[in-house]
Amino acid sequence: MSFREATPAQARVDLAAIRRNVELLKDRAPGAELMGAVKADAYGHGLVPVSKAVIEGGATRLGTAYVREGLALRAAGITVPVLSWILTPGEPLEEALLAGIELSASGAGRLEEVAAAARRTGRTAKTHLEADTGMSRGGAPLAAWPGLLAAAARLQAEGAIEVVGLWSHFACSDIPGHGSIDLQIDAYEAALKLAEQAGVSGSHVIRHLANSAAIVSLPRTHYDLVRPGIAMYGLSPIPEQGDFGLRQAMTLAARVALAKRVPEGSGVSYGHLYTTASESTLGLVPLGYADGILRHATGRAEVMAGGRRRQIVGRVCMDQFMIDVGDDPLDDGDEVILFGPGDGGEPTCQEWADNLGTITHEIVTRLGARVPRVYEGAGA
Ligand SMILES: *Cc1c(COP(=O)(O)O)cnc(C)c1O
Repeated sequence: MSFREATPAQARVDLAAIRRNVELLKDRAPGAELMGAVKADAYGHGLVPVSKAVIEGGATRLGTAYVREGLALRAAGITVPVLSWILTPGEPLEEALLAGIELSASGAGRLEEVAAAARRTGRTAKTHLEADTGMSRGGAPLAAWPGLLAAAARLQAEGAIEVVGLWSHFACSDIPGHGSIDLQIDAYEAALKLAEQAGVSGSHVIRHLANSAAIVSLPRTHYDLVRPGIAMYGLSPIPEQGDFGLRQAMTLAARVALAKRVPEGSGVSYGHLYTTASESTLGLVPLGYADGILRHATGRAEVMAGGRRRQIVGRVCMDQFMIDVGDDPLDDGDEVILFGPGDGGEPTCQEWADNLGTITHEIVTRLGARVPRVYEGAGA
């Protein structure tokens, strides 16, 4: 695929790859339901088209961080169960309940708010309770868990809520053998036992703990449902252990806006961090830090242009950066691949992350709204 429209840049998203990645993850967790994590605009890939592909690949549920992300799924006509797990005071919970969105609570405050919204709408709020099993991020800490369970049991008896999920999240599942992993599993088991004692359990209550890294490395944490994010997009959850057969879905491409010869000794871009060593051809690539190409990529990241790898030279600017192709041919409009699955020798997203000292999640989610997402491999 190449540019069908004359846009400066585009992110090509291979929906067939996403479907296959989801199938592969389902094979890894047989017997568990799969909730695709599509928060943050499906990790920058585009919420609605990706969510449809994720469902086609076998996900029976979707998960978002914000309630408004869940509402956006409903507005697009997506009807599978959706869970939204970050609630702040005063969110549109009535709207969420009327849209059939399941909500998560980590403490009595949000749980009471959810119940109040349920009373106002006349809908029973399908609620997931989050236990903090050792990450110290979301979730009720162990000391507060019995109180949360007691409140949930009371609100459930009243008919305001129905507890449909008991869940937690790993801090270090991407670090195989990390000492916290077994401790978190033990804490989760203890949390489940307390829920049973509080009468907040049963076969209809979904137990869920595993993110992508746990799906591929910790089969005993699959429980009733798994919650992959990064792996669905074909990016390895444990890069040190390879790609697990996943295929990167996103290719980021741009077109050279200007190719020009410059003399030896030309200082390039803000601050003149790079100077040409000889007469040379520079290419202007119309993507910058406003599009998520970190300023920090200067002198670190590579792109594919004219069939070869090229370094980003000089400062990355807001809307553009430069490459130096020496005496190789380069024309206005030529395609530059920043990253892709690697088939044509282009850098992968993992290479970008490694070169920038970050993780692939950050590379794809920072891709700006100005870059159109273009879809290929759509299902029937
Ligand atoms: C983002 C997220 C996931 C998915 O995590 P990955 O590591 O991308 O697989 C799962 N569960 C929760 C609660 C999350 O916030």
